[in-house]
Amino acid sequence: MDVFNSMSLRDHEQVVYLSDNRTGLRAIIAIHNTTLGPALGGTRMWAYEDEAAALKDVLRLSRGMTYKAAAAGLNLGGGKAVIIGNPKTDKNEALFRSFGRFIEGLAGRYITAEDVGTETRDMEWVRAETKYVTGISKQLGGSGDPSPVTALGVYMGIKATVKEMFGTDVLTGKTIAVQGAGHVGSYLVGHLRKEGCKVYITDIDDERVTRVVNDYGAIGVSPSELFDLDMDVYSPCALGATVNDETIPKMKAKIIAGAANNQLADEKKHGQMLLEKGILYAPDYVINAGGLINVANELEGYNQEKALTQARSIYDLMLKIYSIARENNIPTYEAANLFAEKRLELIGGIKSVYVSKSEFSGRLGEMSGRHR
Ligand code: NAD
Repeated sequence: MDVFNSMSLRDHEQVVYLSDNRTGLRAIIAIHNTTLGPALGGTRMWAYEDEAAALKDVLRLSRGMTYKAAAAGLNLGGGKAVIIGNPKTDKNEALFRSFGRFIEGLAGRYITAEDVGTETRDMEWVRAETKYVTGISKQLGGSGDPSPVTALGVYMGIKATVKEMFGTDVLTGKTIAVQGAGHVGSYLVGHLRKEGCKVYITDIDDERVTRVVNDYGAIGVSPSELFDLDMDVYSPCALGATVNDETIPKMKAKIIAGAANNQLADEKKHGQMLLEKGILYAPDYVINAGGLINVANELEGYNQEKALTQARSIYDLMLKIYSIARENNIPTYEAANLFAEKRLELIGGIKSVYVSKSEFSGRLGEMSGRHR
């Protein structure tokens, strides 16, 4: 395993290996890019097959965070952490406090949050050792569950995508199939039903489907019949990689727009296939940026109204990305990447004039050591 080569492949700034024999902590923090601010990204806990798999994952995920923050207009860089271990059996206070102490040692270059395999309680343990953690519960002064903000952003993103495809953003009368009746999916169905959409909802958990059917008047369907239905919009809000060789030929929707991360099984191949099939794909990391917007707001002293307003601006962002895709006849995922890279280039290229460091404001300013 050649760490330097792996780092230079995606242009990573820093990779930190953490080891603590007393607590059994084995973790990797990857800081991809801090051009825009401190690297923020969650901590994933997973029983990786080996060290190489953990490194590969953290490098891939941290780069994704750079693009997500850059596209969303946030003053944050991209980072991610992985803890090697089984999240069901290997968690304890000492492990997460040890992890927190290492994060403190990075002096704000990396800020963590929850991710797959970690939860609010774990982050509260981390917080006992460092202030560089976000996504804390409301009771402890944090922002709590980010899904209402994510769902609003996805709803606005769907409206923008419908506008791009059909010329008007009115959703009344449109048929939308939401896959995943979890946190984001349920809130999203609420928004869609309020605007008079016909909504199909599916989940592997029948109870969740029933709840959404009862709460919002959606139509429950089984996961296997989803792609047989006539629909205008397919909204993946469950797992990644649902847009693939098998599903694209069956797809009746004109639009794919949902909250799930990494929706395209193979970005290049499936992005191109969708373009050729005339299906408009809302780039996942742009439309689901509400969660990141929410934790970024927590760093500034949380105000949900402000976070919701910022999430609404995903509408304009999507339209901008679609115009780049249209003008260049490129897949929308590629347009999103170009948009993010352009911001990194422009902000990274600002002339380096002397700035007095006497007037820092906000928690993010303090953390990043930047004048904002
Ligand atoms: P969640 O765990 O609350 O909900 C996911 C739902 O998907 C669950 O109800 C689960 O049973 C269901 N599911 C799993 N496999 C399925 C399948 N094959 N078919 C149908 N349903 C299936 O998660 P969430 O917080 O609502 O997030 C949904 C997605 O959005 C995830 O991919 C997540 O990474 C992404 N996302 C979430 C946020 C957020 O703020 N929560 C932010 C950005 C991205």
